[in-house]
Amino acid sequence: MRAWWRGRRYILAAACLCLVMGAVLPRHAQPAIPARPAQQQEGPLQGLTILVDAGHGGTDGGARAKDSGRLEKELNLQVAIALRDALEQSGARVILTRDTDMEFSCGKRADLTARLDLAREGKADLLVSIHMNEYRSRNESGPQVFYRAGQGQSRLLAGAIQAAMIEELKPDKARSAMAGDYFMLSLGIPSVLVECGFLSNPTEEKLLLTEAYQRRVANAIRDGIVEYASLQIIETSAEAALVSSSCK
Ligand SMILES: [Zn+2]
Repeated sequence: MRAWWRGRRYILAAACLCLVMGAVLPRHAQPAIPARPAQQQEGPLQGLTILVDAGHGGTDGGARAKDSGRLEKELNLQVAIALRDALEQSGARVILTRDTDMEFSCGKRADLTARLDLAREGKADLLVSIHMNEYRSRNESGPQVFYRAGQGQSRLLAGAIQAAMIEELKPDKARSAMAGDYFMLSLGIPSVLVECGFLSNPTEEKLLLTEAYQRRVANAIRDGIVEYASLQIIETSAEAALVSSSCK
């Protein structure tokens, strides 16, 4: 069961808590976190603006790791920050939806809409939302990348990231990129939701808790994005070659 499906069971409780917290906190949302153009470097992703979303946050903890009890929202944030660093090293401009434990709104849909607004306002070219999976069977494992059905570029991006994660992380179970009906994938730019692994699987949980594995996950996602970006260049070059040959 994926985290925010499971989270629905707690919507009522979370809403009540939000109402109580609302009485003492002025607001939930923090100011938008600006990209850091001063640190932009040369690299294969130069010129691309990428929104990196650390899923859940605040009263929405997401999935809970079965053995350690750690919450998905914390691990998502750690991977998202590692991904930001990796993408910036490759030349991308990165917008993080959050760099602390926070939520944008008590309501799930309003919270996700605020995250998409950051992508719109920042004119993001690509969107990557980071999550951790869970399931009732503890045998299920392996990262999996989701895209929205009918979005060809998102499917290509998801396939490139899935392939890089399989090659670099060598999970016991090699899953395929899959279509998923997630609101975070509805913006219309190439968008993927990455389930980095299963917090319900004892082996994968241990790995996902370590900084070293989180960095490997982030690097694999970055490498998939670099591969996707290079494919776009090849496509563009092929189209240019076709145009120039048809002119002769
Ligand atoms: Zn999640």
